Amino acid sequence: MSGPPLDVAAARAIVLGACRPLPAEPVAIADALGRTLATDVVAAADVPGTDTSAMDGIAALPCPAGTRLSVIGEARAGHPALRPPSGGEAIRISTGAVVPDGPFGVLQQELVEGDADEVVATEEIPEGRNVRRAGEDLRAGEVVLEAGRVLDPAGLGVAVAAGLAQVSCSRRPRVAIVATGDELKAPGEALAPGELHDSNLATLSALAVADGCELTGAAKAGDSLEATVDALAGALAGADLVACSGGVSVGPHDHVKPALAELGAEELFWKVALKPGKPTWFGTRGETLVFGLPGNPVSAMVTWILFVRPAVDAVLGRVPGPAATALLAEPLTRNPARDECVRVRIEAGRATATGPQGSHVLSSMALADALAVVPRGEGELPAGAEVELVAIGR
Ligand code: AMP
Ligand code: MG
Repeated sequence: MSGPPLDVAAARAIVLGACRPLPAEPVAIADALGRTLATDVVAAADVPGTDTSAMDGIAALPCPAGTRLSVIGEARAGHPALRPPSGGEAIRISTGAVVPDGPFGVLQQELVEGDADEVVATEEIPEGRNVRRAGEDLRAGEVVLEAGRVLDPAGLGVAVAAGLAQVSCSRRPRVAIVATGDELKAPGEALAPGELHDSNLATLSALAVADGCELTGAAKAGDSLEATVDALAGALAGADLVACSGGVSVGPHDHVKPALAELGAEELFWKVALKPGKPTWFGTRGETLVFGLPGNPVSAMVTWILFVRPAVDAVLGRVPGPAATALLAEPLTRNPARDECVRVRIEAGRATATGPQGSHVLSSMALADALAVVPRGEGELPAGAEVELVAIGR
């Protein structure tokens, strides 16, 4: 498909239109960090399950300051008192221990005088003082976490508190990465003139894992049709999503499009009005989403972030976060034909470009907190203009 490059939004809409939700699977809490909830988490019971003490001290029925109380027992965390205290009595109580049923209050240890058997409350003990009520944190039946949420440490904690040992999560998309190019050498290998280290395999694999995918393959292909077909065929086998870098333009050594055609992939778009990232290709083969990303290292990352990440979110059922914005700390020149993703550092809500913006300049990507989207147009965006931000990391 040729013709004018697509708008970024139109291209993303085509990608999202091809995404189908992945099935759910049970995941043990210990394995669920970063996973996406497929169903709501509902509290099985009230949390706390009973009234509990917020302090170490004594529990007693309401009484005025100066009341003398005989100590008849103890309630510790996990060990309720054998019987509740009556008027003129108290129990020693620890933080988190059950406060007996009734109009009890707790006086913290610092305000209690006396010995093991008899104490004096130096302040009034009104009903409910230092008492955490049953259900104050979670109510039985309450939705505590909504489907689509990515589980973070606090989310895992609240799921456990809600009574769950496992959560229903969307299966992670199986993702295979292919990097094309005769010039590519593995990390650390010696380079002959014209060769370079294959950073796309590293960045795209890392983006896949950071975005919640299961990396099922990371392969390199030389610049021949046969090698490209071989590598892509291997990547397509069993993958929900394939992302290939390089070889997607119109040069005599660009074999990705013919290789994908030979493998039966259907093209849904090629070329987006985006800088960097113009030659981005997207299509499907059966249920598999296929992305032909440009080879330049920043273009590969930017197009993953703008097109592949939303696809990953969509198949996982992730709820996208709110869009962030910042004000430009300095003017930025606009590109007349393409929206530009500028690598920026954000300080106090203001965006500053991190350095040279060539699509091969990975160092300015490594310094950036976000991509600032500069809409195409004439002239420049002045300092102080508001720009949309796209997060680079997750
Ligand atoms: P291509 O899209 O294949 O024409 O590649 C465009 C530019 O990106 C060339 O300068 C390539 O050397 C470079 N490039 C392609 N693939 C990679 C890669 N995996 N890692 C680093 N640079 C790459
Ligand atoms: Mg190439």
